[in-house]
Amino acid sequence: MTWRTLNDVDFRGKRVIVRVDLNIPIEDGKAKNDRKIRESVPTIAYLIGAGAKVILMSHLDRPRGVPDPKYSLEPVSHVLAKVIKRKVKFVNDCVGPRVRATVEGMKPRDILLLENTRFHPEEERNDNAFARELASLADVYVNDAFGTAHRAHASTHGIARYLTGCVGFLMEREVESLSTILLSPGDMFTVVLGGAKVSDKVQILKNLVKKDLRTLIIGGGMAFTFIAARGGRIGNSLVEKERIHDVNDILATCRARKVDLVLPVDVVAAQRLEDGAPTRICDANNIPDGWLGADIGPKSIELFTNKIKRSTTIFWNGPMGAFERKGFSTGTEAVAKAIASTKAFTVAGGGDTLRAIEESRLENEFSHVSTGGGASLEFLEGVELPGLSVLRKPEERVERLPYPSLPP
Ligand code: AMP
Repeated sequence: MTWRTLNDVDFRGKRVIVRVDLNIPIEDGKAKNDRKIRESVPTIAYLIGAGAKVILMSHLDRPRGVPDPKYSLEPVSHVLAKVIKRKVKFVNDCVGPRVRATVEGMKPRDILLLENTRFHPEEERNDNAFARELASLADVYVNDAFGTAHRAHASTHGIARYLTGCVGFLMEREVESLSTILLSPGDMFTVVLGGAKVSDKVQILKNLVKKDLRTLIIGGGMAFTFIAARGGRIGNSLVEKERIHDVNDILATCRARKVDLVLPVDVVAAQRLEDGAPTRICDANNIPDGWLGADIGPKSIELFTNKIKRSTTIFWNGPMGAFERKGFSTGTEAVAKAIASTKAFTVAGGGDTLRAIEESRLENEFSHVSTGGGASLEFLEGVELPGLSVLRKPEERVERLPYPSLPP
């Protein structure tokens, strides 16, 4: 492993500040899905076992640099306490005298959760003084927030300039799974991409088609830009005309490298993306005007499933249709089931993909379900994530220009 890990550091009696990803959906002050909380437990439990004083920090949603009770992490502290079966103290800021006093009163094995780091605009600006203040609370830094590792923020990047740091168990597992995909995917490597936009996936496509990719399956709204580029008739389906040249490049690379590019052959078409709207099955290359492809059709499901069955490694990101609506969720469910039932090494990433997997109760059937949609895509694009690069082992660290802060 290129990054310092928990095993490389002695935590006994130390104050350890841990960047976790507790950005979970909250409705009426209640946590709706505690998966990210559960995923953060192994690292916290390890630190408690090692006798550390554990200070947790995270963002929640996008409060845009101002304190807002709607985005408070306090409800999350209660869920975490229940999940980890220990007291979790909460303090209503992440810097300042009150936080400092609370930290000074901590004993070994105490857990303290700080308030949303994004209540301060300096967090997303990766402000040095703010990062230093966060760092001053602790002796050691651990980053276990894979979901924000692609952001150079004060709590994910700047802070590591002032403290010895390492990655947590979740980060380690995420990076190892995605590295397997990038570095040793085996000879039957299949990537399944879907979702609305080609533009979000152009870089990953360009990087992966250069690797040992055997099969590239494209569904969802983004498939129509591919079908249009090949001269198909797509009716009113989603299309990004400004991306046709990128798609042509990808098509050419697939041809040159003998990548089997698999597009839908039929679609469930509708006149409107609404529940209960009349639908019909159409040839994916001949969708009438006034109709749009809202899901992949039965022949496409069969085609995709057969390709998936023959794979040894599979990466999946993005739904096959407008799956939030019942009438257009069949393709995504079928692909989730097909991937889950292979013996391949299977990795899935992305918020919608996760939701589809959880709705089908298939999360335990995948080798790895990533907690980071954007971060997993950027990792597979071949970009070094700033939250990781600052935690490289010193002997492997290369001085780099400061990574620009990305918009949320
Ligand atoms: P993305 O954020 O790019 O992964 O896209 C996810 C969104 O794409 C989901 O909200 C889906 O409803 C939407 N989507 C997927 N396929 C289609 C389609 N054929 N037409 C319209 N929207 C789609």
